[in-house]
Amino acid sequence: MSKDGTGNNSSADELKKRISSIRIALAGNPNSGKTSLFNCLTGASQRVGNWSGVTVDIIEGTSHTGNQPVTITDLPGTYSLSACSPEEQVARDYIFEKMPDVVVDVIDATNLERHLYLTVQLLELGMRPVLALNMWDEVTGKGLVIDVDRLGKLLGVTVIPTNARTGTGLKELVNAAVNQALHPDKEPGSFAVRLPPELEKAVTELEAAICKCIKSKLNTRWLALQLLEYDRQTQSMIENDSCGREIIALRDKLEVDIKKTLGDSSENFITESRYGFIAGAVRETVNETKVNRVEISDRIDSVLTHRFWAYPVFFAFMWLLFQGTFTFGEYPMHWIQALFAWLGDTVTALLPQGTIRSLLVDGVIAGVGGVIVFLPNILILFLGISIMEDTGYMARAAFIMDKVMHRIGLHGKSFIPMLMGLGCTVPAIMAARTLESQKDRIKTILLTPLISCSARLPVFVLFAGALFPHNAGNMVFLFQVIFGFSAFIFMGLLFKHSLFRKTEDYPFVMELPPYRIPTLRSTVIHMWHKTQHYLKKMGGVVLAFSVILWWAGEYPKVPEIEKKYDLQIENVKNNSRLSDTDRELLVKKLENEKHAQRITQTYIGRIGKVIEPIVTPFGTDWRGAVSLVTGLVAKEVVVGSMGVLYAAGEQTAEHDSSLQNKIREAFTPLSGFAFMLFVLLYTPCLVALVTIIRELKNWKWSLFSLGYQLSFAWIAAVSVYQTGRLLGF
Ligand code: GDP
Ligand code: MG
Repeated sequence: MSKDGTGNNSSADELKKRISSIRIALAGNPNSGKTSLFNCLTGASQRVGNWSGVTVDIIEGTSHTGNQPVTITDLPGTYSLSACSPEEQVARDYIFEKMPDVVVDVIDATNLERHLYLTVQLLELGMRPVLALNMWDEVTGKGLVIDVDRLGKLLGVTVIPTNARTGTGLKELVNAAVNQALHPDKEPGSFAVRLPPELEKAVTELEAAICKCIKSKLNTRWLALQLLEYDRQTQSMIENDSCGREIIALRDKLEVDIKKTLGDSSENFITESRYGFIAGAVRETVNETKVNRVEISDRIDSVLTHRFWAYPVFFAFMWLLFQGTFTFGEYPMHWIQALFAWLGDTVTALLPQGTIRSLLVDGVIAGVGGVIVFLPNILILFLGISIMEDTGYMARAAFIMDKVMHRIGLHGKSFIPMLMGLGCTVPAIMAARTLESQKDRIKTILLTPLISCSARLPVFVLFAGALFPHNAGNMVFLFQVIFGFSAFIFMGLLFKHSLFRKTEDYPFVMELPPYRIPTLRSTVIHMWHKTQHYLKKMGGVVLAFSVILWWAGEYPKVPEIEKKYDLQIENVKNNSRLSDTDRELLVKKLENEKHAQRITQTYIGRIGKVIEPIVTPFGTDWRGAVSLVTGLVAKEVVVGSMGVLYAAGEQTAEHDSSLQNKIREAFTPLSGFAFMLFVLLYTPCLVALVTIIRELKNWKWSLFSLGYQLSFAWIAAVSVYQTGRLLGF
């Protein structure tokens, strides 16, 4: 505000001038009431009719706001900006070329799903339309309750309920439009609906190409989407440019790839994603008091996103998935186990005793083989996650969890990283980028590692199979889902009431894309993408660590101890006074003692002894401790390490060397349970940690993440173990 009167006057004059230069365009589907609105606003009497195509020409008129004239244009009805009919063409050209100061999007409030399509496109164009929720008088009669404020917040626009027949709300509408024109957004064009990842990648690539050489006042993302929708007008506009042909060629190539991987055209996916966005927005803002749903998708949703049933259904799905990973995974698991046992035996038979044989059998085969065995379980898990993503159920899961997530101060949007965390923590942490507020992002990144990733699954499958054979599937489900999610919620609550007490609430739309039967091809490709990562680790980190562990478990050698025991063993073998069985038992005992003596002298034994005191409170010995330390690099390594550490020496009488038996000897159900709990809760892996540091860009939070997870894991494991002991388990 200026201090003197003249300044005030001149700025008021300027404002008047600016207002009178404002051009407002009325856009909307046919029959939404644009002409009625126009007539009411301008006092004109254009033809109003209850059929489409009444307005074909562009009609201009003048309305007044506080005695200031503003220009209003009535556009022909249009369902979308991907123009088909001549009327649509006229409306689109006007919006693109004349660029009105503000577009008032006239919407039939009783049919939001259909009418919001144009709104989404206007938002994609980088515009901030003002929404007129017309036919407001009919809303109650149709049994609808619309939360206008929420709709506005979700879309980031001003929404005004209107009745063009009586003129209710029109004054507010013009004021809102003028206001919008006077204060346009500083950062337009940030709106985007969520596309399938492959398509999103294609859009980004195309956008980059467009950005490089095409000069247009239209938003580049919009142009990229239009090209992928094969919009003819956009294509000819691009082709006119010098490098247009290259862009079109790139588009064609991308489209072929999309069709191959996703099994449908980009156009369909883009349309679908827009409707998915709308369905989500409508679900959150409209309450239907009278039920008149017909579509199959709606009917499925009435169960899957039901206020009560959604939760048991979701948990039933998860339960089935993890029962499946165990039950179906068991058969191929045995085959792979047999294969590696055979491999070990063959190598043992072929090579002379010595360092090389020991390295191959006790290091490489025991380590990598121990982990590769779980490939079938991982494949089933990834298949399940891919199906959830591709059918559209993942979005529903996020939708229904929204309420639960709000309890812990997060959004349903944080549930997607959470679910993805079941596969791998790394992409899950990166998925938190989609969250708008910094606080939400930090919180989600801190909590996501608590969700059990696929690399932790082998530990659970191994321990559950060994220690809880009758309830193995349930046990796996308990750890992989229930405990992980509970830990997430528990820590979330703790954070909400301590570190993040004052967090603002950012509203946004949870998309509800239509259900799709995924193509076999795309699901298999998705599953494979996720699995590749797992296999790469086998060839890299797991292999390297198996060898290092083997080496650290063999060296330094202490010949005196070996000689001492070898001599004793020789004596026993030559003692003819003993019976055969006694002799065999004694030899076994001495072999075990020799091994135990020897390993305490090796590097691994020494390290293990140093850290053992940390793990004894939850019933684990030094071998478990070493496995856990190696697990900091990658959780796959835990089982690999156990394969190496527990396999070395210790041949039991039955010659049974399967790792499950070894676990049964080394753990009680209680200590196994505590060990699993620790594995679930402690830092997922080095890569995840690096990702956390990179995404948080903050050392303090990153260190906090590491520290709180380690202490949480330890406290939980110790409490369970000690309580269990007191209760006599
Ligand atoms: P246009 O195609 O978007 O220009 O829509 P029109 O202005 O021609 O209106 C289509 C029909 O809807 C006409 O029968 C109008 O009388 C009716 N109509 C427009 N606005 C309202 C409203 O707010 N309430 C009700 N009940 N009917 C309306
Ligand atoms: Mg009309």
